Amino acid sequence: MSKTPPPINTSRKFPDGLASAHSLLINAKNGIKGNQKGKRYAIPAFNVTTFQGINAAITAFDMLGASGILAFSNTALKSFGGGDPIFGIELVTSYVEKWARKLKVKIATHLDHGDYISESGRKVVQAATLAFTSVMADNSTDHKNEKAMPLKDNIELTREVVDMAHPLGLSVEGELGVLAGEEDEDTKSEHSTYTNPGELEQFLRETGVFMLAPTIGTMHGPNKGKPGHKVKLNIELAHELLKIADSIHPDILFVAHGASTLYPEVVNYALQHLNGHPSAQKWKDFVGTDWDQIQGLIEAGFSKINTDTENRQTYVAALVGALHKDSAKIDIRYYDKVATEAVTQSYIKKLIMAGDYGVWYEPKIDINKFTFDLSKDLAAATGTK
Ligand SMILES: [Zn+2]
Repeated sequence: MSKTPPPINTSRKFPDGLASAHSLLINAKNGIKGNQKGKRYAIPAFNVTTFQGINAAITAFDMLGASGILAFSNTALKSFGGGDPIFGIELVTSYVEKWARKLKVKIATHLDHGDYISESGRKVVQAATLAFTSVMADNSTDHKNEKAMPLKDNIELTREVVDMAHPLGLSVEGELGVLAGEEDEDTKSEHSTYTNPGELEQFLRETGVFMLAPTIGTMHGPNKGKPGHKVKLNIELAHELLKIADSIHPDILFVAHGASTLYPEVVNYALQHLNGHPSAQKWKDFVGTDWDQIQGLIEAGFSKINTDTENRQTYVAALVGALHKDSAKIDIRYYDKVATEAVTQSYIKKLIMAGDYGVWYEPKIDINKFTFDLSKDLAAATGTK
């Protein structure tokens, strides 16, 4: 390990339409859209797990002229690649590259929760470094022993990824603290530990990461707390951590994991069509993070918000509705289209909420006329019919 971590090589040229997550996020933090400087916004990172999910996200970015981040978890890549995550990386990369060439927006492809601890995880991180435009080096949790990774080990492992990725122009996201909840089997943790401000400066200076996922009370998964209780984020700690990072380098960006909110219209739509099915209670019990708290984080300087659960819920709710209305259409495309267009609506909603629109050009739809309504198809919801 050399003394100074390498900076991100900003002269690296990615294929047309693709960009490092950091280059897009720095514009969000500084409120830059086109040549204009305005209010801060955030870029939602959408965890995509299917090709339809990629289509839905790209359609949303294109309609809004938004900057996009497609996040791929280890298990998503495994599923894309028929069990082989490395093959999954190859497949999604060529798929997204072909799409991106047609677009006038910029997209980042990001490895979410790339662990550099296990031998298999390491191979995925290495392959992602060669194919994607951004990687997360998640070494904050020792998943085998279910405890926080010692700071020294987290720094060393994360720094190895930085040494490999920054010269290739990729941004690296590090994590400090343990996030509770379950995203998939690779990122499961019972208890969360807040990021220790006393460790932050050392972590940032020695790893050289320009993207940081601190833990301030957000959680992974659809059950972020007891039903009826509000999730309380430690906003004071968030501000303290931002101040420390800003004093080290103003280009260090913060990422909120587990920032999914809950869309009441989606839950209501699902309940309408579940007709007292036993799983209805589970829908009633879902708890997300309130948007006002996420918005507070964006205003404070968090520029990437990871959202997944509400989009998954939208997909399932739309599918339940479609099957309830007519389950005898023997055409996969019918159900696929209903669910995918619903997810596109959910992505459009989140991009607008986060302020990520009109970045590359004026939105193609009138955002004031957009209605998030699962009983409508995409053209009707976006007023383009
Ligand atoms: Zn996460």
